[in-house]
Amino acid sequence: MNDMVRECADVNHELIDRPIDRILDGQPTSDGAGVRLTRYIGSQLLSELDPFLLLDFFESDNPDDYIAGFPSHPHRGFETVTYLLAGKMRHGDSAGHSGVIEAGGIQWMTAGRGIIHSEMPEQENGRLAGFQLWVNLPSQKKLCEPAYHEYHKEEIPVESRLSGAEVRVIAGMTSEGTKGPVSDVVTSPLYLDIDLPANTGFEEATPQGHSCFVFVIDGALEVLDCDSRETVGARQLAVFGVGSRVRMNAGATGARLLLVCAQALHEPVARYGPFVMNTREEIEQAVEDFNSGQF
Ligand code: FE
Repeated sequence: MNDMVRECADVNHELIDRPIDRILDGQPTSDGAGVRLTRYIGSQLLSELDPFLLLDFFESDNPDDYIAGFPSHPHRGFETVTYLLAGKMRHGDSAGHSGVIEAGGIQWMTAGRGIIHSEMPEQENGRLAGFQLWVNLPSQKKLCEPAYHEYHKEEIPVESRLSGAEVRVIAGMTSEGTKGPVSDVVTSPLYLDIDLPANTGFEEATPQGHSCFVFVIDGALEVLDCDSRETVGARQLAVFGVGSRVRMNAGATGARLLLVCAQALHEPVARYGPFVMNTREEIEQAVEDFNSGQF
């Protein structure tokens, strides 16, 4: 066995490293009532990463950038996931769900057949930072009952690995058996917030058929696969290719990153603003239902 084979697969040759397909800087934009953010998925550079439809990163200590928030707006056909790194956000929706999350907290909202919600900063100054991810629903679940789950930092387990890596498990289960509070999501997502000390390695099995990305919050990473290593810097998104394991090393300054994976749906996507369906006709129906007050 040569070194290349050893690096490509584990001892049983069961896990294949995922290469990096592409590394992206986000596109600065604004959304809601004028919130400044950087879009990584759902932009001209990367329109979708099945089943992920959108990934926004927002970060500012200037209230003018975020104070207008995201007043009432509808959604149908997918799930919106907000994870905060700093600050506070309040959620309220037409199904009667509401809550406030703070740094380290997650809101997982299933819009299903339709919901009207608002997402507003619960602060007038200070730093607000976090992510919004849109996860698609398969056709047979697009019109499901809306649902809402909210978990605070204290409810999210932290897995401490021998290497020194600290892994906050928000959704899914790690290969070491730590299970996040977000469960029963149809696309079986894995959503991890990982702290790596300087020069520390991290690897995780990821099911084939799932799409995976890593977002570097701070520091830098080297992503490893059979015959290459690629550096991913802070505020960059790296999209993984086909395989069954991700493998990376933090650089000399360490790294904090999100690792997110979920089952690809391989269905047609018809998308119009806050509605994501399979066909043009279903989008027209969504607009009609919203306009006639059926959300
Ligand atoms: Fe929304």
